[in-house]
Amino acid sequence: MATARYTIDLHAHSTRSDGVLAPAALVRRAAERGVKQLALTDHDTTAGLGEAHETGAECGVEIVDGIEVSAWHGQEVHILGYFVRRDDARLSEVVERQRINRLDRVQRIAERLARLGMTIDVDAVLASAHGNVGRPHIARALVDAGHVPSFDAAFDRLLGKGAAAYVPASRLTASHAVRVIHEAGGAAVLAHPGVEKIDADLPALVDAGLDGIEVHHPAHDAGTTAKYLSMTRRMGLVATGGSDFHRPGGHVDLGDRGVDEDALHALQARCNRS
Ligand code: AMP
Ligand code: ZN
Ligand code: FE
Ligand code: FE
Repeated sequence: MATARYTIDLHAHSTRSDGVLAPAALVRRAAERGVKQLALTDHDTTAGLGEAHETGAECGVEIVDGIEVSAWHGQEVHILGYFVRRDDARLSEVVERQRINRLDRVQRIAERLARLGMTIDVDAVLASAHGNVGRPHIARALVDAGHVPSFDAAFDRLLGKGAAAYVPASRLTASHAVRVIHEAGGAAVLAHPGVEKIDADLPALVDAGLDGIEVHHPAHDAGTTAKYLSMTRRMGLVATGGSDFHRPGGHVDLGDRGVDEDALHALQARCNRS
């Protein structure tokens, strides 16, 4: 298997949310690609971390305990938490609430799809999830049912922001997400800001205690990366990065994006606040 460009990748998903590989298989793939430190950042859950640590210990991959919290900041944004205590009570409460919100959202999206003449088997969608269910599970069901030709078409036509069956998620505020991550001992990072284009609203997140910005991400072109890199320097934030890997055979693989050791240490130092 090809060697990755980075040995530290701070963004990856497993079957505990909408990734395709189980945590163990994900970590083994990281090892095969030469990734030495991997943050597992499943959407709204830390459920895969135990398994990731077990496999990591076997194959020499250090696991950074992560989470990607879906939040609201004028629009849907993702807040990455790093070095969080998995058993933190308040984080667990948020995780449980988000789990229920996700189940409710799938139901409401299915109702919209039915009105568009595209019935999906909600129970089968829920059964296809081995952790938090999300729109990607619905997208796969739409492809399987022949309602759309591809996963991307499912998002473009139906599930993406503003599309025909789009239902906004009811989520906690981004500043609340930052607070919960801090209280769980972690560092909070704004994920892929180039996707949401929330530059004007960034200062409010920094005021809320944001520790870093995910500068290196597959959705960021060179210009976007440079812009956020200079922003992190100006604002005294940590520049992080990762592949946001979801599945083999996609356009990125583990370690295709990442950070150097200095960035990882800077992120860790942010957690040692009193
Ligand atoms: P959810 O957590 O249910 O809101 O789903 C969000 C996930 O869906 C993201 O993390 C991506 O994995 C995926 N996703 C979102 N938008 C798109 C898109 N336009 N095309 C493909 N995948 C997408
Ligand atoms: Zn995802
Ligand atoms: Fe994300
Ligand atoms: Fe992600």
